[in-house]
Amino acid sequence: MTSNDDTTVPAVPPSSGGTPATTAGVEVFDTTLRDGLQVEGVSATVDDKLRIAEQLDVLGVHYIEGGWPGANPKDVEFFARAATELRLESATMVAFGSTRRPRGKVDDDVTLRNLLDAGTSAVCIVAKSWDHHVLDALQTTLDEGEAMIADSVAFLRDAGRRVLVDMEHFFDGYKRNREFSLRALEAAVVHGASHVVLCDTNGGSLPHEVEEIVAAVHRHVGGDVTIGIHCHDDTGCAVANSMAAVRAGARHVQGTLNGLGERTGNCNLTTVIPNLQLKLGVPCLPEGRIERLTAVSHHVAEILNRPLDPQAPYVGASAFAHKAGLHVSAIARAKDAYEHVDPNLVGNGTRFVVSEMAGRATIQMKADELGLAMDGPAVNQVIDDLKRLEHEGYHFEAADASLELLMRRATGWEQRYFRLESMRVITDELPSGEFTTEATVKVWVPGPAGEQRRVHTAEGNGPVNAIDTALRATLAAAYPALDRVHLTDYKVRILDGATATGAVTRVLIDATNGERSWTTIGVSTNIIEASWRALEESLVFGLLHGVPADVAG
Ligand SMILES: [Zn+2]
Repeated sequence: MTSNDDTTVPAVPPSSGGTPATTAGVEVFDTTLRDGLQVEGVSATVDDKLRIAEQLDVLGVHYIEGGWPGANPKDVEFFARAATELRLESATMVAFGSTRRPRGKVDDDVTLRNLLDAGTSAVCIVAKSWDHHVLDALQTTLDEGEAMIADSVAFLRDAGRRVLVDMEHFFDGYKRNREFSLRALEAAVVHGASHVVLCDTNGGSLPHEVEEIVAAVHRHVGGDVTIGIHCHDDTGCAVANSMAAVRAGARHVQGTLNGLGERTGNCNLTTVIPNLQLKLGVPCLPEGRIERLTAVSHHVAEILNRPLDPQAPYVGASAFAHKAGLHVSAIARAKDAYEHVDPNLVGNGTRFVVSEMAGRATIQMKADELGLAMDGPAVNQVIDDLKRLEHEGYHFEAADASLELLMRRATGWEQRYFRLESMRVITDELPSGEFTTEATVKVWVPGPAGEQRRVHTAEGNGPVNAIDTALRATLAAAYPALDRVHLTDYKVRILDGATATGAVTRVLIDATNGERSWTTIGVSTNIIEASWRALEESLVFGLLHGVPADVAG
């Protein structure tokens, strides 16, 4: 399968001769904190970035690209704090920058100075490898373009840094002027770069092109340097392109968690890592770490306040969800016949989706999944409840947490965390035209000396926010762990024609505790009541399942 002939594209896994620097597998280089944060609508504080870096180390990536020191003051602060506050176990922190400016000198170049000041042992610089960019964007000669790479790599290496070079627009450059793109590459290799990273910056390449070009580069310099790949997802092929590159000899894959990045995003590490490791047998993470993938993916989505796509491969909430129909019992008997990998391998799990169409077998399977002991009458009770409630406008397929609470109630369980006495919401329009909303919640909370009455009033930017704030205030003392539970989405849908008395409102609330996410539902002709039901169940579910220790813990 493999060959010692250096001109042959190595087969995967790379276990014998003819393979580049890293033979143990593929290095994972995460650029969530630099390239990933280019995504629209996301901004991260320095604290957010430090917490994400911790998660990346927990996952076991080899490199964390922390940002571009000098490009903004936040990144300077990040590197300073990372050096003293983070205890990275497996990851090397990398500062990002670029080659020296055209016709400049390395020793007075501000960008290179900032890179050294970041104090990381490894640096990654972007270099132009497409002649078009050298001539038209930099407005300089190809000789100077090559010298910029050579001088910068030599300078950083002489300063004791490991130097990774991102060959920007490499694939486009190679297709149009192969000679210059290879000259640029050689300049980096000859002057001591540890890695040359081939970038599909415009993201327009396809897997067969990437495989062919990486194989050619591997024949050219594969013996002298580690070849990396950095793909953007503009054709939806970033993961496929990265895998094609690995098949052709790349041993270093760059990407971001959850595929974050500008435009259509970057190579998604939460997809490419299991693809490489579980499908191609190429180790990417240290032993025992890939099981953390789902939790880390969700945790980072939460830190960035950017909900994860439920359909994300491997880590999404629906990735192993089965809408049980005719084949329901067949799935239960032979899960591996219906799942491409064991979901536990990536820290996810099988989930059965239940609706009013569910029969006894589906309910029983769902009960098993939840670890609930349910007898025949309880199962019948659930089926009756589902039929009745779905007729009223509930939709349990979309509300896993409400379904679980409904099933628990059928076994005789009831929530004892708090008991509502009353709840009131007032919205005022002030003379200025401004609206204010205030909610008062009165609940009874169990304590060592019996039930205690708690009353709180809170303002909010709308009724749901005000109720949520007031209810949490009444529970905070008894349940400090609720601090970790956040509402991430609130959806309202008006169901028309359901009753003669008026439209029915369906409210769905998404919440997370940083490790798992759940959805609850409320339905009523009164939007406040519908919201209250969904909110109450959301907090009850959060309390029922406790609040896990940090993934990092
Ligand atoms: Zn990029």
